[in-house]
Amino acid sequence: MPTIAENILFFDDKLKNTPCRLVAVTKTQPMEAIMEAYHAGHRLFGENRVQELLEKHEQLPHDIEWHLIGHLQTNKVKQIASFINTIQSVDSLKLLKEINMRAEAWNRSKPINCMFQIAIADEDTKYGMSCDEVEEILQSEEYRSMNYIRITGVMGIATNTDNEEKLRQEFRHLRDCFNRLKETFFFANPDFTEISMGMTSDYELAIAEGSTMIRVGSGIFGQRNYRK
Ligand SMILES: *Cc1c(COP(=O)(O)O)cnc(C)c1O
Repeated sequence: MPTIAENILFFDDKLKNTPCRLVAVTKTQPMEAIMEAYHAGHRLFGENRVQELLEKHEQLPHDIEWHLIGHLQTNKVKQIASFINTIQSVDSLKLLKEINMRAEAWNRSKPINCMFQIAIADEDTKYGMSCDEVEEILQSEEYRSMNYIRITGVMGIATNTDNEEKLRQEFRHLRDCFNRLKETFFFANPDFTEISMGMTSDYELAIAEGSTMIRVGSGIFGQRNYRK
């Protein structure tokens, strides 16, 4: 079994000379495991639960760039607004408004980066929006008055399948949505650049379909142990 540090180096090497970055997904992983990736030079980490994110942010070095990648309840935004770099899982106008308000309240030096989570899988459609719904948000007066957030791209979670053609279709769907939003709303905006797609089982396909951010957990840290 390769070590965590070796896995980080493996991905560094793989993504070298590509526009794609690695988000190391730390859910259920102990601090020592995350520190091993940190000491290998890695700084970009993703968590999908607020409680775990808070504990890890508090205990780990503060030059880590944290991305929230799981569903975020509106009432929890205030707990992470002081330090979160990017919220990849924005799935409603209500949530976006709350993020903007909390970022303003913290008087942050930098806006909170936000990405729209697009429902691309035919399963687990509980979270994520359609590209049309995102367009509606971007056309709203409310969105236009938000000054403390920055929209940096889109994120999607593909179906859990080994059907390559299906995965490719879903990744293309996300890329098409990104291109549509880029042309319509962010043509001259250099912040809107990210397509977050691909996990341990499907990152190769995601990269081939234009991913700029793969989110890898078990492929770096090994199997998750959900029992504590
Ligand atoms: C857990 C998780 C991942 C990483 O999953 P692996 O299969 O362990 O690579 C990526 N994205 C999201 C949103 C996750 O919740």
